[in-house]
Amino acid sequence: MVSHRFLEVVAAQQQKQHDDAGPRYQVTLVGEEPRLAYDRVGLSTFFDGRTPEEMTLPAPGQYEAAGFAVRLNARATGLDRARRVLTVGGEELPYDRLVLATGSSAFVPPIPGRDARGCFVYRTIEDLEAIRDWAGAHAGGVGAVIGGGLLGLEAAYALQKLGMKVHVIEFAPRLMALQLDETGGAVLRRRIEDLGVEVHTATSTKEILGEDGRVRALRFANGDELDVDLLVFSAGIRPRDELARGAGLPVGERGGIVVDQSCRTEDPAIYAIGECASYEGRCYGLVAPGYQMARAAAAALCPGAPEAVFTGFDMSTKLKLMGVDVASFGDAFGNHAGTHVVSLLDTSAALYKKLVLSPDRKHLLGGMLVGDASAYGELLQLTQSRVVLPPEPEALILPASKGERPAGMGVTALPDGAQICSCNNVSKGEICSAIRDQKLTAVGAVKSCTKAGTTCGSCVPLVTDLLKAELKKAGVAVSNHLCEHFPHSRQELYSLVRFHQHKTFDALLAQHGRGRGCEICKPAVASILASAWNEHVLKPKHRPLQDTNDRYMANIQRDGTYSIVPRVAGGEITPAGLVAIGQIAGKYGLYTKITGAQRIDMFGARLEQLPHIWRELVDAGFESGHAYGKALRTVKSCVGSTWCRYGVQDSVGLAIRVENRYKGLRSPHKLKSAVSGCARECAEAQGKDFGIIATEKGYNLYLCGNGGMKPQHAQLFATDLDEATLLKYIDRFLMFYVRTADRLQRTATWLNNLEGGLDYLKSVIIDDSLGICAELEAEMAHVVDTYACEWKKALEDRETLQQFRAFVNTDAVDPSIVNIAERGQHRPATWSEKAIRSPSLVVAAGGR
Ligand SMILES: Cc1cc2nc3c(=O)[nH]c(=O)nc-3n(C[C@H](O)[C@H](O)[C@H](O)COP(=O)(O)OP(=O)(O)OC[C@H]3O[C@@H](n4cnc5c(N)ncnc54)[C@H](O)[C@@H]3O)c2cc1C
Repeated sequence: MVSHRFLEVVAAQQQKQHDDAGPRYQVTLVGEEPRLAYDRVGLSTFFDGRTPEEMTLPAPGQYEAAGFAVRLNARATGLDRARRVLTVGGEELPYDRLVLATGSSAFVPPIPGRDARGCFVYRTIEDLEAIRDWAGAHAGGVGAVIGGGLLGLEAAYALQKLGMKVHVIEFAPRLMALQLDETGGAVLRRRIEDLGVEVHTATSTKEILGEDGRVRALRFANGDELDVDLLVFSAGIRPRDELARGAGLPVGERGGIVVDQSCRTEDPAIYAIGECASYEGRCYGLVAPGYQMARAAAAALCPGAPEAVFTGFDMSTKLKLMGVDVASFGDAFGNHAGTHVVSLLDTSAALYKKLVLSPDRKHLLGGMLVGDASAYGELLQLTQSRVVLPPEPEALILPASKGERPAGMGVTALPDGAQICSCNNVSKGEICSAIRDQKLTAVGAVKSCTKAGTTCGSCVPLVTDLLKAELKKAGVAVSNHLCEHFPHSRQELYSLVRFHQHKTFDALLAQHGRGRGCEICKPAVASILASAWNEHVLKPKHRPLQDTNDRYMANIQRDGTYSIVPRVAGGEITPAGLVAIGQIAGKYGLYTKITGAQRIDMFGARLEQLPHIWRELVDAGFESGHAYGKALRTVKSCVGSTWCRYGVQDSVGLAIRVENRYKGLRSPHKLKSAVSGCARECAEAQGKDFGIIATEKGYNLYLCGNGGMKPQHAQLFATDLDEATLLKYIDRFLMFYVRTADRLQRTATWLNNLEGGLDYLKSVIIDDSLGICAELEAEMAHVVDTYACEWKKALEDRETLQQFRAFVNTDAVDPSIVNIAERGQHRPATWSEKAIRSPSLVVAAGGR
């Protein structure tokens, strides 16, 4: 990665010199890997289907255009400084200047048995290919990772995605010991364990036990054994300084080729950059310092290149480990004397935020964030720019719903010199001038122009804020248009649909848009039309607009089959209903699972089976559960006063009435609700878009909570309501949200962005301050009155049923669907299991 950045600067400089006919280097790139430099930082995206080609950093032909010679699959094995030659594959390559950018190798601790088959490191694309193949051949087996640092957790996540049961084994007493303190490590551990990964801290592996030459188990220092099918070593990295050592160049105490501020080694003809270099006794295992070294070496080697030196680097990091935000910045451990600590620990939400303040509490010195690192960019900038903090700096880490943001603390308060993108060394001033001078109006354009946000991406929110601020300053309205086909926001389109009574996408486009529409506006308009008029989503005029799940009224799964969720209002189901679902699932060979929302999910239905399954479900009295749509999903309930000793109201009865009232309502995002029969809150109503908790006198209503990627508690909206008032408020609230939210905006974000927040929402819904409540109620009444089960309707229409075939030209069953028996049911085969069963796939994979 670092050699690529170096060559980019050299190429740019040589291009400039070309015009002046100045000195030019003949550049040869020597790399032992079979491919050009690739995005190693994003290596794990390989398991999300990103191809090696997509990861490649140089554009096709970029090096050739610069006149650079490239040798791949070519390992440098010797360096003769006296004769200035590098030995590559037995051939001697003379040089005038040599730049070593040999990176690191993964450290494999000297544990007996470590050479067994099934043991891997996690460094190159080839490593990941080998892990994928081995995991595929041991599907459903146990994978272990030795090392609970950031790379270890990334590897653990990958193993989990490959379908393995995963253990992380860490020698230190906590995870990510270098970045997190004890509390941070404990919170991270809880989050990781909640994801199903078993964590063993303070555990040392003494032996790797094998069988027939492959790994079978780990034996720990306390004598315990853990059976494993696959093992990944992620116990740190070691700089690849062997060429330099062999040539007598000084290396650091802990390895790494010793360099000065220009990244020059003791030999003035040789430079070292990236992870293989050691500056002032320290090697840097992140890409951003490597990029700064690349700039420093290029500045020293190419007269006229932008000036740069390397004087050490801030090791602040923000990562998303297994979907968990983790960040650590500045003096995160409060190593300076007299520092103060402000921290927020929420054990229920597994959230930890810590700020380290200067002795006079005026400056932020560092901190760490676990569970929510959305404030990272801003906090890092406050640390680096030494801006004076507000008198109550704790507001910087309070959850959005609890704290007022301190005035003037946003990105606009930073000085021009503040570094926004540390990977690419781009300052606030550079970004703002690019926006102004080149009249940039989109984040993508700012990224490609300045390179900010193009490496690890953690500064993109700051870049976005800067763009908005600059556009506002210039008097340019920030576009909230849905897409290039509609010069209107979603909110405006909703009003236009209602005002002009548009019933189709084509009519709306003809009068208020342009072009033919795209994958953004089509489903968004389909949702608006459904919220407004409640027509069947598969009517021929609406069908082409729908997303895949809506188009087949079922959720497509990873193997191309579908899952089906019938509605079970309030979670109440009769024994006959249970039997019917069991019989249908048995008949069609479906995998069944109780969902987190008190329903039964049936997986593995083929496209052509869907109508037959719906028919049987409808005949047994079930309806569509809308699990596929951005619509009301479920209203969860506890058993309430009917059975429970603590319940004060009939929560099940109310949940059923609420679910039946709002079922089928299409909205900007999915909606969930719950009713709890008492303050013990067994239905978890406060985590829902609208939640109801029974009181002695009636019901308390909570609004705008959600789980998912960024959980947020709902806020108390009104207390002790009778049922009629409760439903009136919910009618108004839901329709106000449907009218005014952005596309795919959940209620929590909607409320966070609503000027005036909860008080404003109360004034609209309770006090009718906008005078629209009658309209909102009428709109909801229309949706309630026109409800019809979408599955049942589809079954009545021959043309719709024609769409449910795997292939348009034949009724044959899709042969790529392969199942594997597991725990008395079945699951989709992994790709390698399919390959074993389907020789044609092996040929295709091997032939490429
Ligand atoms: C899974 C993973 C996730 C990561 N995530 C992050 C992250 O989130 N943020 C971050 O900042 N960093 C991250 N990193 C680290 C980052 O990838 C490295 O800091 C960066 O790649 C270093 O670049 P480099 O050019 O010094 O070394 P490398 O990218 O390793 O390149 C060195 C190259 O030199 C080749 N080479 C070595 N010796 C020879 C020889 N004798 N002859 C020929 N070729 C040779 C190697 O094969 C290799 O191709 C991650 C790394 C991994 C593995």
